[in-house]
Amino acid sequence: MNKIFFLLLCATATQAVRAQDTASVISADKVQAIERALSSDEMGGRGLFTPGLDKAAAYIAEAFKVAGLLPWRPDSSYLQSFLFEDKKKQMKLMNVVGILPGKSKSDEYVIFSGHYDHLGTTGDAVNGDSIYNGANDDASGITAVIMLANYFKALGNNERTLIFAAFTAEESGGFGSQYFSRQYEPSKVVAMFNIEMIGTESKWGRNSAFITGYEKTDMGKILEKNLQGSGFTFYPDPYPQQQLFYRSDNATLARLGVPAHTISTSKMDSEAYYHTVDDEIETLDMSNMAAIIKAIAVSAESIIAGKDTPSRVDKAGLR
Ligand SMILES: [Zn+2]
Repeated sequence: MNKIFFLLLCATATQAVRAQDTASVISADKVQAIERALSSDEMGGRGLFTPGLDKAAAYIAEAFKVAGLLPWRPDSSYLQSFLFEDKKKQMKLMNVVGILPGKSKSDEYVIFSGHYDHLGTTGDAVNGDSIYNGANDDASGITAVIMLANYFKALGNNERTLIFAAFTAEESGGFGSQYFSRQYEPSKVVAMFNIEMIGTESKWGRNSAFITGYEKTDMGKILEKNLQGSGFTFYPDPYPQQQLFYRSDNATLARLGVPAHTISTSKMDSEAYYHTVDDEIETLDMSNMAAIIKAIAVSAESIIAGKDTPSRVDKAGLR
């Protein structure tokens, strides 16, 4: 058997093994374990300036460490702290950010993000329950970010640098992503996958999700191209009147021209548990969530490889 043929055989075999291994990185069981931790009563609904929020930040930082990510800056931890003026008092807030350095295009960034804060607790307990667990909003997005970090670390072939970000203060105005956006040169950020509320089936059923602001760049088309034959479908946002493109952390980066979109399955016209104390893990579908996370991973391949570069958002066209 000649040497070149033998080497090719090895390469193909390695790729097959790597694909099989990485596919097992994202499983319904692993999704459930992270989701259960982040949405547990212990996290107290991850309200702003509460111990529960800090506990969640520590959990995510540890998960990034275990996944093998590097801290967002060489001289820092995974915690991206900043001061926030609240009622004339300076308060500390923190995003949690880890990176997977790229190879040939390491100064080009692809972001995977979600928000880890939620509404905390309410004084008016409902059937004795006063905690907004936020299992779907947005523990499901953070679960996806942690799973994708493990997946791409295992794959180990990203030409562009991958940034995994858990934003704080999304529910109170997006202050975490605003601070984050000032740490990077926008022209170097080639794409942002912001993941919000993927815990329930979309209006089209299993193996589907939607992309906000689909018409603003060609990123959606690139993702669909990479998913051909996969049985999974990304659709344009079916609730344009809800202005979802402007209602999550992608908007901050999009206003800087970055192709930044949110991926979601939330049925905004009928999401029964949205912003209630009943947004609990029992209302979510773990295997469908795992399928959505795998689809995001596969759909991003050509962008991470530096083969496809989504078109930029026309800033002048935004509200
Ligand atoms: Zn949210």
